[in-house]
Amino acid sequence: MAKLTECPCGSGQPYAACCARYLEGNESAPTAEALMRSRYAAYTLLNEDYLLATWHPSTRSAPLGLAQEIPAKWTGLEVKRHEQQDADHAIVEFVARYKVNGRAHRLHEVSRFVREEGRWFYVNGEVD
Ligand SMILES: [Zn+2]
Repeated sequence: MAKLTECPCGSGQPYAACCARYLEGNESAPTAEALMRSRYAAYTLLNEDYLLATWHPSTRSAPLGLAQEIPAKWTGLEVKRHEQQDADHAIVEFVARYKVNGRAHRLHEVSRFVREEGRWFYVNGEVD
């Protein structure tokens, strides 16, 4: 993989000190927001294994076939809201921007996350 200086999740941190710990290491994201950011980074890096591993089995759809889709160029992530509902449930609202065939798109989603045995999982989301 190409060496990245800045993490694709938009944190402003170096990739190695940010989402790489979750995507390539054994650490699990400590919060729903960190997981959401790392999943965005995984989309930009076409890391399908990570996306599936952090997707709750009850709602997961596999395989994603990211490589077969029309390639989207992810251009930015903005986390609008991170709401911890109780110890093991959280929602994250975000706007992700991307381009397909040069056309700009915007995905505004409110995602639900659940923590099981100390690990956060993406459950599902409502698209605005
Ligand atoms: Zn990151």
